[in-house]
Amino acid sequence: MKGSLYIHVPFCLRKCAYCDFYSLPDQLSLKEAYVKTVCEELTLQAASFDVTEVHSIYFGGGTPTLLTGHEVKEILRTAFTAYHICPDAEITMEGNPGTLTEANLTGYLEAGVNRLSLGVQSFDPGELSMLGRIHTPEEAEHAVRLARKAGFRNINLDLMYGLPGQRADGFERTLRRAISLYPEHLSCYSLIVEPGTPLALRIEQNQVPPLPGEETILEMEETMKTLLREQGFHRYEVSNYAREGFESRHNLTYWECEPYLGIGPAAHSCIGSKRFYCPDDLKKWLLGPSTERYLEEGDNQESDRRFERVMMGFRMTRGVDLARFWEDFGARPECFWPKTLSEMKKMNMVREQDGRLALTETGMDVMNYWLVKMMEEEESTKEY
Ligand code: SF4
Repeated sequence: MKGSLYIHVPFCLRKCAYCDFYSLPDQLSLKEAYVKTVCEELTLQAASFDVTEVHSIYFGGGTPTLLTGHEVKEILRTAFTAYHICPDAEITMEGNPGTLTEANLTGYLEAGVNRLSLGVQSFDPGELSMLGRIHTPEEAEHAVRLARKAGFRNINLDLMYGLPGQRADGFERTLRRAISLYPEHLSCYSLIVEPGTPLALRIEQNQVPPLPGEETILEMEETMKTLLREQGFHRYEVSNYAREGFESRHNLTYWECEPYLGIGPAAHSCIGSKRFYCPDDLKKWLLGPSTERYLEEGDNQESDRRFERVMMGFRMTRGVDLARFWEDFGARPECFWPKTLSEMKKMNMVREQDGRLALTETGMDVMNYWLVKMMEEEESTKEY
């Protein structure tokens, strides 16, 4: 089976108000040691990553675009030496529009990067400042133009909706401005207020306008679906839209529950039936011996993996691969959740097509409701 590499770059210029990712705003002096350790780690872990070939590499963060072209080249050269990488592998850099320069964009392309994913979030200056982003709407537009000029032919823009004080027409303006830049891919996530973040505190203390209500969120989602469909994007995952042929291969690895190896502090891996993670501590990660950097996650029971396969598969419009499900778990999903899946079929919430079981559009809108029902059914059949 094919697999993916994920490289976590834990550096940022400044912490955004809503962010709870592992990213450090004041540690750039450790960048050189970080790059060296990523290369060592890539080489050391190669033997344990048992895949036929690597078909995607993803630099996530943090702000990977704080790495220079030369640093990215060094990491990719090591990866290409230690792993069997497909000649047409998708190689993505996540980036903050406030950090792009002509020189680093050209350097990334020369290093082999062929996809750029920019965290734009909004085209409203007030929203960007409330979120603590380091760029203006104009800088985000400039970044996309710069990337095009450098030669990037596959660009994703990340947008957020459901922001404090945001109205449906405001989000529509952001969407339209994003579309006018002709990206190949758009990821649109509803804001999740993470406890303990500065934004959560401001919301709690009424220092920012209230969060939009459920109806407004639904209106935003409807506008998003209609507008993006009209503009030639197809929704291939709950929050992800792409022009034909530009679906993110890397993200599909996660939703298909295929193997991936994560390198760097706070990076997660999934190899065979096991999940691992590196603790989120850059300084410790730079010191520790490789084998001790990986800790096993949970007890990886088969019932958890089975549920996860369906949960992730239902996120994609193409759904769960039934042949693979059978191969790994010895039966069809209906054998494990007979009541819920039969109810879903009767209500036209799922459909079977091309050997896959997928949610219908209506089913996708209420996915969480059905996942909870499946969990309850699983619990009620457990023997104690
Ligand atoms: S740029 Fe991304 S990773 Fe860095 S603080 Fe902002 S949201 Fe977090």
